[in-house]
Amino acid sequence: MSSGALTWPLRPELAGLHAYQPEPPLGDAALDANENPLAPPSEWASRAMARLQAAELNRYPDPSCTALRAKLAALHQVPGPSLLFGNGSDELISLLLMAFGGPGATALVPTPTFSMYKLCAVAQGWQVLEEPLGPGFELTQAFVERARSAKPRLVFLASPNNPTGNAFAPEQIEALMAIEGVTLVLDEAYVEFSGRSWLAQAPAQGRVIVLRTFSKAWGLAGLRLGWLCAPAALVSELEKLRLPYNIDMLAQALAEEALDLAPLFLGRVPGLLAGREQLRLALQALPGVTLFPSDANFLLFRHPDAPGLHARLLAAGLRVRRFGPGPLDGCLRLSVGSPAQNLRIEAALKGSR
Ligand code: PMP
Repeated sequence: MSSGALTWPLRPELAGLHAYQPEPPLGDAALDANENPLAPPSEWASRAMARLQAAELNRYPDPSCTALRAKLAALHQVPGPSLLFGNGSDELISLLLMAFGGPGATALVPTPTFSMYKLCAVAQGWQVLEEPLGPGFELTQAFVERARSAKPRLVFLASPNNPTGNAFAPEQIEALMAIEGVTLVLDEAYVEFSGRSWLAQAPAQGRVIVLRTFSKAWGLAGLRLGWLCAPAALVSELEKLRLPYNIDMLAQALAEEALDLAPLFLGRVPGLLAGREQLRLALQALPGVTLFPSDANFLLFRHPDAPGLHARLLAAGLRVRRFGPGPLDGCLRLSVGSPAQNLRIEAALKGSR
């Protein structure tokens, strides 16, 4: 790696990597990052303000997230010691790769999927095996066979998958969980929109680690809080690598308040699903569009003039995600917006016919 005349003895893997590239921050409606478009409930905001005022920010935060852990464990009916918190689930992906890594480490990922699995793995010297999803982005038998034969240390799977939006067949997930010597990292970032979860198995099954986040259905992406669920014995090994104060005091306090109001936060999911249906119908009506089924809070579609539509949406203030050459060539990904934003999307799509 060099900058002008300067060079540094960096890991050679970094030379081949690109930093994560979000869409440029154009337009007033951010529909490009699968976020929740809704501000947190106002009842939470007033409680959050009180916690902010009471926070002793001259002190370090609780490194064990004791209160947060107890509330989350109670909500999901899982043992507290099976939980590990991260600065977003991104941090946990990196931490798992650190823990399971070392010479000969191989991971299997489907394509296309969330880019962070491969990025973090390659950066840490892992060999990454990639197996394409099927024509409708379903998990294939070939993927399961590849896991059986290649015996990667970790298999990364997001269900529902990002950026395709679909959840994978339960039988395929079960088949992956049954492979001896292989650990499945099952990323359930969007599970609240689809309903089928393996969280209950994670504390005891042993070959599955479930990842979850407050960034999507909970609508708290700015807090940076993700968590994983795994057998307590594995969690205590992972704890050796976790930086002690990775979850700041405010994130802990504000997430505790959110958990106390769980029905208010999660009660917004049906409205988002109705928005998804509204957008699905609008997209389906566009000539030449291939729309992929979604179990998440976003929709992926292929459009005959994706760059043109992207530009027209942006001109209407609507920022969506576009994809370059590869399996998603000609595709755009659109997050479900607020009711007002969904109307604007509908109008912009109609205008683009
Ligand atoms: N997993 C998946 C599948 C995602 O799409 C994302 C975010 N786009 C993440 C994890 C990261 O979430 P967090 O905000 O918790 O880091």
